[in-house]
Amino acid sequence: MTKHIFITGGVVSGLGKGITGSSLGVLLKQSGLKVFMQKFDPYLNIDPGTMNPIEHGEVFVTDDGGETDLDLGHYERFIDVNLSKTSSTSAGKIYSEALDAERQGKYLGKTVQVIPHITNLIKEKIYKVEKENAADVIISEIGGTVGDIESQPFIEAIRQVRMEKGKENVMFIHVALLPFLSISSEFKTKPIQHSVKEMLSLGIQPDVIVARSEKEFDDKLKDKISSFCNVPKENVINCPDSNSIYKVPLLIEKTNLHKIVAKQLDLKLGELNISDWIKFVKNIENSKEEIVIHIVGKYVELSDAYLSVMESLKIAGYEIKKKVKFKWIDARKLTKENFEQILKDAKGILVPGGFGEEGIEGKICAAHFARINNIPYLGICLGMQVACIEFARNVLNFSDANTTELNENTLHPIIHILEGKNKENIGGTLRLGRYKTTLKENSLAANLYKTNFAIERHRHRYEFNNDFKKIFEEAGMIFSGIYDEKELVEIIELSENDFFIAVQYHPEFTSRPNRPNPLFLGFVKAIAKNS
Ligand code: GLN
Repeated sequence: MTKHIFITGGVVSGLGKGITGSSLGVLLKQSGLKVFMQKFDPYLNIDPGTMNPIEHGEVFVTDDGGETDLDLGHYERFIDVNLSKTSSTSAGKIYSEALDAERQGKYLGKTVQVIPHITNLIKEKIYKVEKENAADVIISEIGGTVGDIESQPFIEAIRQVRMEKGKENVMFIHVALLPFLSISSEFKTKPIQHSVKEMLSLGIQPDVIVARSEKEFDDKLKDKISSFCNVPKENVINCPDSNSIYKVPLLIEKTNLHKIVAKQLDLKLGELNISDWIKFVKNIENSKEEIVIHIVGKYVELSDAYLSVMESLKIAGYEIKKKVKFKWIDARKLTKENFEQILKDAKGILVPGGFGEEGIEGKICAAHFARINNIPYLGICLGMQVACIEFARNVLNFSDANTTELNENTLHPIIHILEGKNKENIGGTLRLGRYKTTLKENSLAANLYKTNFAIERHRHRYEFNNDFKKIFEEAGMIFSGIYDEKELVEIIELSENDFFIAVQYHPEFTSRPNRPNPLFLGFVKAIAKNS
């Protein structure tokens, strides 16, 4: 029988509920259990696909094309499992299903209410994941903070799941802030007490309190939290800040949280094997020498907008014992007049994905600078499209070359929308999820992947225009990755440069600790060589 662990947050958001849940997932998985994770988000957007990355962070894409919350990226990187659309559910999705069903008369004229109709739909999602995955344990994170109006239906639904399945099958872990007041040099447990009280008023007594604090606290405080929050002392978990999220599984291991969970849920744990994880953390600690990567994007105000790109670069760096640092360049401010000055110190340039007109010209300048100065370049999605436009403008002398995303009337639509797709309905016309790319023999791509194909995830609308393929090839561009079924260009590279490669897909979603995506590894190696 599948056991459920629900993770809730208390006092403030941003405490790392996702990292805590994922870390627990690592320990359970490495003790021989099959673990799956999912996230419930209380916002009313149907999915994060159309949300502003500056506000919400990156959209993480699953194999099956789900546009999901960035926490799923952490889940995948930690528990090393490919999740699916079903792993991400927003309140918006639930409400929209309920309202559709109401319009279709599926409620047979009954009054449609939050309880039971919305809560039933939430439970359906939980049970669907249970049915589809046959996992030993499903860890579900409830986004937001207990007490938020929006999260109440989710809290009520998980209360019902516990009631239906019992304490031995369902467990509640509450991750809450334990503030330290430096002025009086003491921890304050009151906020945690209040958030547990809030949960109790919603019918839930947490089984475990993970107290998130600046630093470790002592036993006496554990006693206090235990008695005020009505949990056994050993179920009060000390979780201080860490300088790397990847160290958290090792912190959690010391607290025995996995054993506490196993005891309550009657799970048989095998011998814990986290040697790979320990090796990875050692690599992090040994990565002292820094390399700097210039990232030319337009959502630079919030680095979370490029979370998986950053994690992929860091993971690749650790593999060669280098600490990757980022230099953020706002593509909107990069112009023909200033790009040489701004990029003059660049040792490696990465142009990530992006949507809309803004910043495209700046990104074209960045690709140009990398190409003519032989600086390692990795282009991702829009980063590939701008590299093609740059090549068309400056090598082929098609001065008006463009993507039709920016200029629909260009005579040289190097990047365009495939016929049959329309761009009006922005919610549904993207190429999403995993596709297989065939790699050209002896190309840089094939050398990096060390095989003749790559399976990677996509999220874009525009494609390279094959009408220009021949002339590009004649001028030296190599199309080293093709999605055969539709003959779509997936990878371009330049043989004259040491490392210039750009891909239409998003390789950042498949990097894992100790297993960086080959493109990122090749990229950081190329930079390290020159640094
Ligand atoms: N805007 C471009 C497209 O839709 C690139 C998308 C991206 O970079 N994810 O094709």
